[in-house]
Amino acid sequence: MFSVFLSPGSTLTFEDLVPVLYQEGRYQGDPVTLGIGGFGRVELMTTLSHGKYYAVKRVSKKHIVSKRQEEHILFEKEILKAIQSDFIIRLHAAFKDTRYIYMVMEFCSGGEIWTKLKEVGRFEESIAVFCTACVVEAYSYLHKKNIMYRDLKPENLMLDVKGYVKLIDFGFAKEMVRGDKTYSFVGTPEYIAPEIIKNQGHDFAVDFWSLGILIFELLAGSPPFSSSEPQRIYAKILDGVLKFPPYMSEAAKSIISKLCRPRPGQRLGNTKNGIKDVRHHRWFSNINWHKLRMRQIDAPTIRLIRKGPCYINFDRFPYDQTKADEEFSGWDRDF
Ligand code: ATP
Ligand code: MG
Repeated sequence: MFSVFLSPGSTLTFEDLVPVLYQEGRYQGDPVTLGIGGFGRVELMTTLSHGKYYAVKRVSKKHIVSKRQEEHILFEKEILKAIQSDFIIRLHAAFKDTRYIYMVMEFCSGGEIWTKLKEVGRFEESIAVFCTACVVEAYSYLHKKNIMYRDLKPENLMLDVKGYVKLIDFGFAKEMVRGDKTYSFVGTPEYIAPEIIKNQGHDFAVDFWSLGILIFELLAGSPPFSSSEPQRIYAKILDGVLKFPPYMSEAAKSIISKLCRPRPGQRLGNTKNGIKDVRHHRWFSNINWHKLRMRQIDAPTIRLIRKGPCYINFDRFPYDQTKADEEFSGWDRDF
């Protein structure tokens, strides 16, 4: 077992971590799984000494190699290690053994925004405004460090204990010099910007496009361009016709239209005043940005969070007993 200690003064070792078990129900006695992604499992763990909770992402090294994700996962770790923002998930430590890599993250006990959205159908405006404002703060932090996020969607937004939103999942993030463009095809179909589809090269502006899509989805319950086939989604994105439901406010329609402008150079957030223009849009008129940063706003999202066992805001998953194969190629030397 190799281990890397990331937070200064942290004494967390891999051996300290013990799984948290379901206390009741069908899976009683089994370890709690918080989520399963395309790559791995995220399990809830704690330590016997101080009892804090951690979300531990475990990914098979063999799987990473077979999907050629070595660079992505190394970069995800490096980025998360360097990031210190209240609006982005914190990485406390990273470990590896012969089968898996592990990322020990802060536990967001409020659950996924995606789950909450499915429960209530669509969010009232004050909740959507608050969630989006947290994302704007995360973007502001990342873009200042020249990092594009590129995977905004409700599945990648978690609620912490106070109802504040945090970005997770940095598998698609990329560091890039201002003025450069990149040509990789990344993202989730519904959230991909037109310049990515057209392979014209893209930059930080794609994050503002996806912010507009997110606002629409939070307010309407589903994104503006959707279909079961990605190709049809892309055709709709290129057409760029936004159809707003009748209950959407004028301010909401305005900010979405400005964020989802087809030309990246005209997009709100990507013109000469940068992200300030997003903050100053009237849809955010009730947000005190300073208080938000100080975490002094009472989050309206708190109404969405259930009280009970620490895993109550998550779906339940059966325990996975299978062990991944060992992997020795050495790509994870720096993990
Ligand atoms: P993807 O296929 O989206 O790339 P992934 O394998 O990279 O998935 P994540 O998206 O990082 O994994 O996490 C998968 C799920 O685990 C999340 O959707 C969420 O439900 C849960 N999860 C992840 N991080 C945390 C956390 N810090 N606190 C609580 N739950 C978490
Ligand atoms: Mg994810």
